[in-house]
Amino acid sequence: MSLDLDKRQRAMLREMGVRLWQPPAPAAAPAPAPVAMNNIAVDARTERAEPRFDAEVAPARGAPAAPALRLVPAQAPVSRPAPGLQPRPAGVERMDWPALQAAVAGCRACALCEGRKNTVFGIGPAAADGAAPQVDWLIVGEAPGENEDLAGEPFVGPAGKLLDNMLLAIGLQRGHVGDAPRAGLSTSVFITNVLKCRPPANRNPDPAEVAQCEPYLKRQVELLQPKMILALGKFAAQSLLQDSVPELHKIPLGKLRGQVFRYLGVPVVVSYHPAYLLRSLGDKAKAWDDLCLAMSVAPTVAHSV
Ligand code: SF4
Repeated sequence: MSLDLDKRQRAMLREMGVRLWQPPAPAAAPAPAPVAMNNIAVDARTERAEPRFDAEVAPARGAPAAPALRLVPAQAPVSRPAPGLQPRPAGVERMDWPALQAAVAGCRACALCEGRKNTVFGIGPAAADGAAPQVDWLIVGEAPGENEDLAGEPFVGPAGKLLDNMLLAIGLQRGHVGDAPRAGLSTSVFITNVLKCRPPANRNPDPAEVAQCEPYLKRQVELLQPKMILALGKFAAQSLLQDSVPELHKIPLGKLRGQVFRYLGVPVVVSYHPAYLLRSLGDKAKAWDDLCLAMSVAPTVAHSV
């Protein structure tokens, strides 16, 4: 895919740490050849091996098999809640946007409600009364961290800044209610997580917590009707693809990249979580490839590349 990048997009890619290919200077000292990735080259000296998620998704030899993530349907009976907890509100699958927001805000269906400062429903542009925002893109991450819990907003802090720069590089701006989009940018994007409450000490989500919370994400997708879903990280991919990819829990995240899946009929592209990219700079170019793939399979989505 050939991309014509303007000055703003090049600046955003520099912010992301994605290096654009430049012809070598004639007098430059010999160096390892860059590896071309679309219009982007990654220096072979800094490219890292693809991260292994096997340890998280497949048991070590001789160890008991980890339970696969199987989420209960929204209408399934909810298991008896622990003391102090309550069943998930009934009828999530029929709720409109305001009702869904209220249900999440008051939810006490898993133990994560005990330690949260705020629920984190998601962020997107303003919507008409009673309706969901009209967006082309849905970004799904894992769970709120400390900053997100305090702010009540997904992807704030350094990982959020990186995500914002990735979105800016394709002409998207995180929308806040009341914010007007900057010139040349679109706010046609909603950002959320699989879990709406923060796991303590930023631990991984527990399968039971994911099962309790998943119907909210499903209803968000039904109401938003995005044209493209970008699943960032292992837990987002597992939550969205569990019904369409056999043996999903055995597949490393990197093997899910470069393909187009479907969730409720909406195309899904898998990429790395920005928090991971902050630790693995060489994989930022792969994240850019994933954005390019998403744009290529849904050419009518809002973007400016
Ligand atoms: S994580 Fe989800 S299911 Fe658990 S209390 Fe929060 S909103 Fe409810």
